[in-house]
Amino acid sequence: MVSLMQMLEPDLTIQQAQDSANAIRWDLTVLYSGPDDSRLDFDFRQALTLVQEFASRYKGRIAELTPQEVGQMLSEHETASTLQWKIGTWTSLAYAADARNEQIAASLAKARELFSKSEAEASFLSVEIAALGDEAIEAWWDDSGAERMKRWVLEIRKYRRHILSEPEERISSRKDLTGRAAITQLFDDLSNSLTFPFDDGTGLRDRTGAEMLSYSRHADPALRKAAHEAFLGVYEKNGLVFSHIMNTLALDHQVDGELRGYAHPMQRTHMGNSVDQSVVDAMMRVTRENYSVAQRFWRAKAKLLGMEKLANTDLYAPIAEKDRKYAWPEAVSEVLAAYRQFSPELEHSAKDFVEKGWIDAEVRAGKDDGAFCSGSWPQHHPYILLNYTGQIRDVFTLAHELGHGVHYRRSASQPLFSYDAPLVLAETASVFGEILLARQLLSHETDPLIRRSLLCSRIEDALSTAYRQNVLTEFELATHQQRKHGQLTRDEICQKWWDANASLYGDAVEMNPAYRWGWSYIPHFIHTRFYCYAYTFGQLLVLGLYQRWVEEGSAFVPRFLELLSKGGSEDPAKACEAVGIKLDEDFWRAGNRAIEALVKEFEEAVG
Ligand SMILES: [Zn+2]
Repeated sequence: MVSLMQMLEPDLTIQQAQDSANAIRWDLTVLYSGPDDSRLDFDFRQALTLVQEFASRYKGRIAELTPQEVGQMLSEHETASTLQWKIGTWTSLAYAADARNEQIAASLAKARELFSKSEAEASFLSVEIAALGDEAIEAWWDDSGAERMKRWVLEIRKYRRHILSEPEERISSRKDLTGRAAITQLFDDLSNSLTFPFDDGTGLRDRTGAEMLSYSRHADPALRKAAHEAFLGVYEKNGLVFSHIMNTLALDHQVDGELRGYAHPMQRTHMGNSVDQSVVDAMMRVTRENYSVAQRFWRAKAKLLGMEKLANTDLYAPIAEKDRKYAWPEAVSEVLAAYRQFSPELEHSAKDFVEKGWIDAEVRAGKDDGAFCSGSWPQHHPYILLNYTGQIRDVFTLAHELGHGVHYRRSASQPLFSYDAPLVLAETASVFGEILLARQLLSHETDPLIRRSLLCSRIEDALSTAYRQNVLTEFELATHQQRKHGQLTRDEICQKWWDANASLYGDAVEMNPAYRWGWSYIPHFIHTRFYCYAYTFGQLLVLGLYQRWVEEGSAFVPRFLELLSKGGSEDPAKACEAVGIKLDEDFWRAGNRAIEALVKEFEEAVG
């Protein structure tokens, strides 16, 4: 189906495409009219008063409260926090819209002070909740008001069995300054200090890491390879330090885990994500079994590029792309149509954002140059910030952020503290929206070049989020497991990285020897242990849900909507199970099947 806009505007210039979103701005005046709005001043004072009164009423008394009083207390805490959320929403959005306004910047700084004061005032709450026995807490759920906040309370208590005594915690956190925190800082400082002398044909000069990584999408294979080697060569030169950092953090994690009674190096991360080890193990195993799907794609891409075999420096090589611009109204109509195909209810919800001034899309000076969706708070609608330039990726960003937006709208009945979905569910609607958009565009796009490049970018996205992150996790786990038996040499770390990657690339991709140092620049290993599997989890979860819809049809839709409406009120596996989705091997296979279907289509497009 060809949309009206397409027939009217076949060829937009870059400027026309960008200008089409001019004047698409959000309206924040329903919150406050500006930094000198007297209501803002009043709310600043009121917010602090509320939290101070709260503390004077309840501090030191939580153990003696009846369940009804607990319900009342938690509801007061929610009310006080909601007002802070309102102030926080306005100050951060107003600042994102115009960072040059000094009055707004001052309001934002004042809001930060308010939050830190309030946090200190209310910190007794989590300390006292964590100190209570299980029986006392169980009794709380007799009151429906308290029960409503159950998950939040249990989250606070989750780590209590792994907390050391107060003096031990104090020593541990003070010694961390010269231990883990210092090592992490060393990584950041060293990484940030590195420069990369490189000649890309415009002359030899020092380049940043980000510049060097961007060459992976350059059209010239020799340049891609040279940049890759120059980049990792600098890391190799500093290999002694990077290996030492990796070894020390793995040992620190191991010792800390022993002291706190964690049975497995990944246990803490699983607790943070509220998922069971068995669920993650099954996901990682099934993903690994499906590496051949990625290999099929890379063989097809090699063929398309006229190469016998891709090197790993060719993975993101551009294919002959045809540029196509989308005017804002066309982008909106494509995205809404995509949502409509799935659920008119979601489309309706997405339409509100466009029609009611909840989106700020125009490009202008002083504005935050990224894209995000701010949920604000449950009783108020979310806001979306974009920088719309009319590129295809901007249309996908619109679909993505609208996904977050409709997700928030569906979970608006949740309490403030369960409004946000947990990490591994947070991208469910947003990535789903992107898949729906790809499907919508492919359903009517007749130009074979545009179809091919659409498929290619969708697949590369899925591979780097699902499969590559799985490799990263396998490497990280292998390193931690071996660290138990002693320090790893530089060579051993490089070999573990090489082996983990070799299983993904198989014989479809030739690995450049310089890639042995590919682990050394990845900050996730340093900043948050085992963070990367959440990417795989989130991506395959969405693909698995999408595959369910493909296979089950419209009966699946209400279950998906129900899942969204749970927000952060339940653990991910429980939330899925409640709508009839068991996160077992079969489910993870379905997610991989969805990737395979895209790869098959790409193979056919390549011929
Ligand atoms: Zn997102």
